[in-house]
Amino acid sequence: MDCTDLRELPEFIFELLVCRWAELSWPSGDGVPVVGRQVGTRDRRWDTVVVVADPKGLAARARFGAEELDRDLLRIVRHAPSEWAWYRDAIPDPGFPWRYVREAIDRGAARGIVDRRKRRNRVEIRQITPYPNWVNRIVAVENKPDLDRSAARRLGEQLEYDVERALADETWLATGATGDRVEPALLRDIPDKAGILAVSADEDGVATAEVAWHPGRLTPDSADLKRRLVVAERVYGRGFRDHVETTRPDCRHYELRRRGDAIVPYCAAKGRNQTQAECAWSCDAFEPEPPAWRTGGWPIEGGPGAACRAVLERRRARARDRD
Ligand code: SF4
Repeated sequence: MDCTDLRELPEFIFELLVCRWAELSWPSGDGVPVVGRQVGTRDRRWDTVVVVADPKGLAARARFGAEELDRDLLRIVRHAPSEWAWYRDAIPDPGFPWRYVREAIDRGAARGIVDRRKRRNRVEIRQITPYPNWVNRIVAVENKPDLDRSAARRLGEQLEYDVERALADETWLATGATGDRVEPALLRDIPDKAGILAVSADEDGVATAEVAWHPGRLTPDSADLKRRLVVAERVYGRGFRDHVETTRPDCRHYELRRRGDAIVPYCAAKGRNQTQAECAWSCDAFEPEPPAWRTGGWPIEGGPGAACRAVLERRRARARDRD
């Protein structure tokens, strides 16, 4: 099979291809992959995160809605009892004022993820259903299409940090395949415990990845379990198609184009796939969609900006809802 070299792609586009490949093909004997992009903690954000989910747990998680549950909401749904109880009896002392917990309860009740009532001036809560144990494994992937670029310089340091912190169960580097017998990534100073994926595309543009080096299994600290759940929830809620929120689909030059089985942004003004940094408020070539595009159902109701959002949201919902 002829393979296309992906090393010339902007990292942003490479990342979307890796995410799509992972969504369709992540080798997950122990669950189904749920994929997110640019998700992490305050200290470290990963390019691609694959949450390998228990299928039944994933279906049960869906009962809490499509949006992510943040740290405060997780505290509520994980401790809400099956029978009505005063919230302070049900939830462990958070270590900060209880009024913030009450705010989270109000927010959760408004979203329908916890039952709330007031009895004798006390707020009581009850679970709508138990919050499931849906996360089997968390896999972090650093994307570097071209290891010769300056962007790859801090790579060894970043992967070393991931291995040491062990917030994920596995950490990988995904890089553009070179076709060389020994991938350059293997020769670099990256930790033995980080796996390496060599990514290429076939003649139809479909991205495919081969394992050039298997990762070691990391052992997350049990103190980090809550943080892992927060990361998993972000992946669940945001997926990897939320770039439509951080780029400019309301620009007349913005297009979504198919690349293999992925859909990626394309800038008609530049005549190429744009980077995420380029496609921002500061872009000199930005031109708003003409108002006429947004009326009369042209070309799809709401104009191209709204149509791009709708396409990506449909794909995101489809990926999230499988069980
Ligand atoms: S012209 Fe600028 S803002 Fe418009 S699609 Fe291209 S990169 Fe994005």
